[in-house]
Amino acid sequence: MEHIIIIGGGIGGALAHDLTLRGFRVTLVEKGELLSGASGRHHGLLHSGARYVLHDLKAARECAEENGILRRIAPDALELNDGLFVALNDADMALWDRFDEKCHEAGIIHTQLTASQTLALEPELVPTLKGAFRVCDAVMDAWRLPLQFFATALSNGARIRTFTEVISIQTSGRSIVGVEVVDHRFNRVETIGSDLVVNAAGPWAAKVAAMVGLKIPLRTVPGVMVSVPARLNRMVINRLHPAGEGDIIVPQRNLSIMGTTAWMAEDPDSVQIPRGHVTRLFELGKQLIPRIRQYAPHAVWHACRPLLDVGPEQDPMRISRTSDCLDHAERDDLEGFVTVLGGKATTMRAMAEQTADLICRNTGRDRHCRTRKAALKPYRAYYEYH
Ligand SMILES: Cc1cc2nc3c(=O)[nH]c(=O)nc-3n(C[C@H](O)[C@H](O)[C@H](O)COP(=O)(O)OP(=O)(O)OC[C@H]3O[C@@H](n4cnc5c(N)ncnc54)[C@H](O)[C@@H]3O)c2cc1C
Repeated sequence: MEHIIIIGGGIGGALAHDLTLRGFRVTLVEKGELLSGASGRHHGLLHSGARYVLHDLKAARECAEENGILRRIAPDALELNDGLFVALNDADMALWDRFDEKCHEAGIIHTQLTASQTLALEPELVPTLKGAFRVCDAVMDAWRLPLQFFATALSNGARIRTFTEVISIQTSGRSIVGVEVVDHRFNRVETIGSDLVVNAAGPWAAKVAAMVGLKIPLRTVPGVMVSVPARLNRMVINRLHPAGEGDIIVPQRNLSIMGTTAWMAEDPDSVQIPRGHVTRLFELGKQLIPRIRQYAPHAVWHACRPLLDVGPEQDPMRISRTSDCLDHAERDDLEGFVTVLGGKATTMRAMAEQTADLICRNTGRDRHCRTRKAALKPYRAYYEYH
């Protein structure tokens, strides 16, 4: 049975679940705690896809499909509260028909609401709003959802080693044969042999690829989020305009999370929250929910998006949110190495399916993906198996 090492315990590591179901032996190594990268630090918006319809139809379709699948396989980690795309002014209203048409094209169920219907649903929204679309956005628990994937992978025999950092990748000729890791708990260096290594290191994927001299098309796009200590909206609130900064307010437990800003960074390890971003998020947030300005921040944090560098787009908000997996055997003549890049937390299962399909093709296995239907273990089971 082939042994596969996955580098990275973010949503990219959800691949462990798919691979164990297809009969592979899997070891996942994560340099910190699970989900300590972007995956445990995002808004927790389970996208309907509507956020992307105006500029990234492929990502919109992917989110729409995965939204439906995750509702079936992991309902316990979701709050099914729907979302609104709110038009605040005439410029937003000018996009109304196009938004409607593109939602149809992407297969996103949506309903048009008048201003008074919208305010009846969400009374804290600005009273001068023009109207809104209701879509099937939802809220996910950023930890519990991926933990369900990890718990199920553990129950099917995967090994998960946290605080275990890959410091080099071992090769023999043009083939990968394993990784050298440092186990930070015991300050011990060791080598783990494998038939294949998957680089799922998210924003650090370029650093991992550089260990074997490869360059990959990654853009690191950090963003800041701010939460306030009050749940001002029941549904996910989005602004009806081309995706931009500060146009989402997500209700999470008893908080409202405003997000996000976006800029390009070179190195995920040296990102700091830029001056002025918190003020900007409050300025933009109060345009949607005026009362938000009365609150002091409960928390301010950032995370880095690992985005696929697929075209000339320079606006960090418009770079595609689709994903890809790079087969380095085909691309770089290096056997046994695959990188998975891009995507959203919402599309974690699909990214894993795409990568496991590639691995099955390369290893001559005729095993189909079962993760669309297989129910996931509860997140608590992670602690039982681990
Ligand atoms: C501001 C912001 C808001 C977002 N909001 C949403 C949202 O609401 N909904 C949504 O669907 N998506 C959202 N996203 C996108 C989502 O968070 C990311 O697409 C996703 O978390 C990326 O996951 P990943 O596994 O690729 O990377 P990560 O989660 O960063 O995981 C990579 C892991 O690899 C580990 N690693 C790195 N190097 C090594 C090494 N050498 N050895 C071992 N381990 C290593 C890291 O420690 C890390 O845990 C948001 C992103 C940002 C930045």
